[in-house]
Amino acid sequence: MKRIQDYRKIVGDEVIGDIFRHARKLYGKRIIHVNSTYSGGGVAEMLTSLVPLMNDVGLKTDWRILRGTPDFFDITKKFHNALQGASINLTDMKKNIYKQINEEFAIYADLNYDAVVIHDPQPLPLVQYYRKAQPWLWRCHIDLSKPNAQLWDFLKGFILRYDLAIVTSEDYKKQDLPMEHRIFTPVIDPLSPKNIPLTPKDMQKHIRKYNIPADKPLITQISRFDKWKDPLGVLDVFKRVRKEVDCRLVLCGSMASDDPEGLEIFRKVEQQANNMINSRDVILLTTENNFLVNMLQSLSSVVIQKSLREGFGLTVTEALWKGRPVVASRVGGIPLQIQDGKSGFLVEPRDNSGFARAILKCLKEPEMADAMGQKGREYVRQNFLITRLLLNYMQLLTGMI
Ligand code: UDP
Repeated sequence: MKRIQDYRKIVGDEVIGDIFRHARKLYGKRIIHVNSTYSGGGVAEMLTSLVPLMNDVGLKTDWRILRGTPDFFDITKKFHNALQGASINLTDMKKNIYKQINEEFAIYADLNYDAVVIHDPQPLPLVQYYRKAQPWLWRCHIDLSKPNAQLWDFLKGFILRYDLAIVTSEDYKKQDLPMEHRIFTPVIDPLSPKNIPLTPKDMQKHIRKYNIPADKPLITQISRFDKWKDPLGVLDVFKRVRKEVDCRLVLCGSMASDDPEGLEIFRKVEQQANNMINSRDVILLTTENNFLVNMLQSLSSVVIQKSLREGFGLTVTEALWKGRPVVASRVGGIPLQIQDGKSGFLVEPRDNSGFARAILKCLKEPEMADAMGQKGREYVRQNFLITRLLLNYMQLLTGMI
């Protein structure tokens, strides 16, 4: 099991000391996190690392999954999209199923803890079905800058019962929510399979397994095949780069079989890649594997993230952590992670020639690029590791329970 002292070599004595000092004040307190899945997505990934660490420092921390039905998850998926601005037909039936599943779960889920942390909208109504005798915190991981007004008004009825809202960025603070907000940016776990240092032997193994030729510099984008990640734009950028420097492009995006849009976009990318003069230098991967992502990020000469829209952009954090130069769009949470020209390059999302120029600079000046990558890694070390999130929660809870 991961222990907090395993992180000492990475984050230093001061951070670990700080965590233990806060732990003393919270020792034995009982905390519960509630979300709606054990795996898949950033929330589950963060809780997988956070919950054992909270226990390791002496908080009795539990993690419960809201039990839903396919109907319920269909509705909450629609809520998720509508919170990010999509339209929704908000019927009474949808509202009732949403409330009913939460009410049923509340009958048998004991949430009698010193603090309750509810993640995202799925378990939000739970607060209504308990005698609220402790602080309830709502941790929203979704971009709330332009929520659908009707849905927001409905959900606000539940949110107002909470003691505090935690959001990912200053832009997601809600003016019309008269309650305290905190900002916790997402983090990565440097000891998870996606981020641990790979030995040359591991690296070789994965290069062979996935058949990645390492004879030319690699440029990589790791992202779902999604229009907002602009994979076709990435191909255009690669075409421009390839005119000047011999290199390969890897586009890696795992594919959910129930995502017809992803498949359609993948097909378009595949077709366009096949029509390129240098089509053999474009590698498309759809396997989901943490070691593969780790290997690609670690091995690449340049990692790009050409998103047209982005929440935070954990792929950027992960690539910076590998010490690789990153060229990424100036959107969403990416500028929080990269200081342009110092720890990576920021480019306007649709400026394909700007992307190509920045990538070429990294390829032609590898020492500059490496130095930049190291600065990026240090910035992540100081700001975006799991120990910081642990401290965020402990500082917050110290004043509350
Ligand atoms: N990811 C992965 N395999 C893939 C594509 C993405 O494991 O083929 C992971 C990626 O490493 C990151 C997460 O999925 O941890 C994507 O998070 P991000 O914030 O970058 O984008 P999102 O997909 O949430 O919009």
